[in-house]
Amino acid sequence: MEFSSREHITLVLDRLDSLYGHDASPPGMYATGEPLDGLMLTLLSQNTNDRNRDRAYDALRRVCPEWKDAAEATAEKIAAAIKPGGLADIKSVRMKAILGRIYADFGEYSLAAMKSWPGGRARKYLRSLDGIGPKTVACVMIFDLGIPAFPVDTHVARISRRLGWRPEKTSPEKIQDFLESAVPPERCAGGHLNMIEHGRKACHARNPRCAACAVSDICRFGLEGEGT
Ligand code: SF4
Repeated sequence: MEFSSREHITLVLDRLDSLYGHDASPPGMYATGEPLDGLMLTLLSQNTNDRNRDRAYDALRRVCPEWKDAAEATAEKIAAAIKPGGLADIKSVRMKAILGRIYADFGEYSLAAMKSWPGGRARKYLRSLDGIGPKTVACVMIFDLGIPAFPVDTHVARISRRLGWRPEKTSPEKIQDFLESAVPPERCAGGHLNMIEHGRKACHARNPRCAACAVSDICRFGLEGEGT
């Protein structure tokens, strides 16, 4: 079996799902709220952990309960609120620019209309927003709009390269393109979450626990005996 074949990918996803069980998360399962909330939350998650992202988001919503309030607030006021999430000066300016753009394009501070858009159109629009990269776009698509996408964070990128799905130096963006073409749409959310959990629990950046890993017999890195 080839390392990057659909058969291999399916086998890996099946085994990870038997461990972590996120395949019960079809696209749309999470996308029940206002997508603009998700976009802002994901923007705040850049270069920080989930805990600090949530602290920043909660503080912002206390100061600015409506997105209109944030659009009308000064960047300094927003930066003071989101300071726990880091890069507050940059993120506050981006938030204001994005809110302004969304109001100009949709006539309201909401992205709910995008839930009925085709994937290509949604991706193109999100990519056109200031400071929004491919991973953020994919996160918003799958978790806030219910449109299949496969966000590639540091865990997903590392595991994809070690499994042999993509060559070692492949960029996260290229890995994302590959996974979105190779993984069935209904497995994207679960596959993404299962891989992140595997990266946190076993396939660590340093000293991956290959000896106890459920896919060590079908992982290029594991078969080469490079882990512990
Ligand atoms: S065998 Fe090792 S490198 Fe491969 S997925 Fe498992 S922990 Fe990661």
